[in-house]
Amino acid sequence: MRIADLISNASRQFLSMEFFPPKQRDTWPQFFAEVEKLKALNPLFVSVTYGAGGGTQANTLDVVTHLKREMGLNPMAHLTCVGASSTALRGFLRDITEAGIDNVLALRGDPPRGVPDFRFEDQEFQHASDLVRFIQSEFPEMGIGVAGIPTMHPESATLEDDIKWLKHKVDCGGQFVVTQLFFENRLYMDYVTRLRERGVTAPVLPGIMPVLTMKSAEFIAGLNGRAVFGGFYETLEAAFLKGGDEAVRELGLAHASRQVQGLLDAGVPGVHLYTLNKSEACLAILDNINLR
Ligand SMILES: Cc1cc2nc3c(=O)[nH]c(=O)nc-3n(C[C@H](O)[C@H](O)[C@H](O)COP(=O)(O)OP(=O)(O)OC[C@H]3O[C@@H](n4cnc5c(N)ncnc54)[C@H](O)[C@@H]3O)c2cc1C
Repeated sequence: MRIADLISNASRQFLSMEFFPPKQRDTWPQFFAEVEKLKALNPLFVSVTYGAGGGTQANTLDVVTHLKREMGLNPMAHLTCVGASSTALRGFLRDITEAGIDNVLALRGDPPRGVPDFRFEDQEFQHASDLVRFIQSEFPEMGIGVAGIPTMHPESATLEDDIKWLKHKVDCGGQFVVTQLFFENRLYMDYVTRLRERGVTAPVLPGIMPVLTMKSAEFIAGLNGRAVFGGFYETLEAAFLKGGDEAVRELGLAHASRQVQGLLDAGVPGVHLYTLNKSEACLAILDNINLR
């Protein structure tokens, strides 16, 4: 079933979860065991990344197939179009359709590493909206999600500009939005207000990730900029100086729990958890907010 329909039929607020396919296949049994623990939280859907950090299309396909067939979950496959041909994209979409997958998160992706003169203008697919249109025309039954960044995509000149293109992506056939992680709910609330003012009515699912180590906070800041943290980065730094990663973990879990609770209280349809393939932190958050 399409996720947009699941969302509109949901009788209560829900959780969804993101996983990435571990590179080493011999670690997949442990990975699936982690997913099994999170299955107890009854996620509306789970999503599986594609390509990021060197992952392969085959891994994404095999993981979503396993999650669907062996574990009875409702998986969504991420799909990037950067540097891809329509033949390759069509092949992947056929494969997931055959595996019974009903939903795709349609993404552009980042330029390939080590190709300094890479030009999006020369590509068959230049923007995620091109992929959305492609899926819509060739696989009309497929549910389509798109990505949104409350602090704007780093390539955008202004947030207003970025929102204009997000609206375009939705107008091309994106049925719901999953946001990039953020650490201040105000960033999400302001973003949704601006999207609504622009006429975007699609559900916008907030993406939440608990920070468990200072190294991961640094990594997130490097990838997305410090803006995603609001003022939380400095708080984490101070905690790290006093109590190391143990203090960071405690703070990160408490902060993510407050964020999830705040979002639910504000009436979001559901919360999308970036699990990093680890059940413990997500289960701890859910214990704190007592949703279980
Ligand atoms: C929830 C989520 C999940 C993700 N999962 C993955 C994953 O699994 N694998 C992976 O490799 N990456 C993933 N990413 C990262 C994503 O691929 C990058 O952020 C990428 O740089 C942009 O992808 P996009 O789909 O947002 O692109 P787009 O929507 O195409 O936007 C990219 C930039 O182009 C602008 N733009 C968009 N359309 C137009 C247009 N028609 N004309 C002019 N400008 C335009 C936008 O404003 C923005 O600045 C994910 C990101 C998010 C938020």
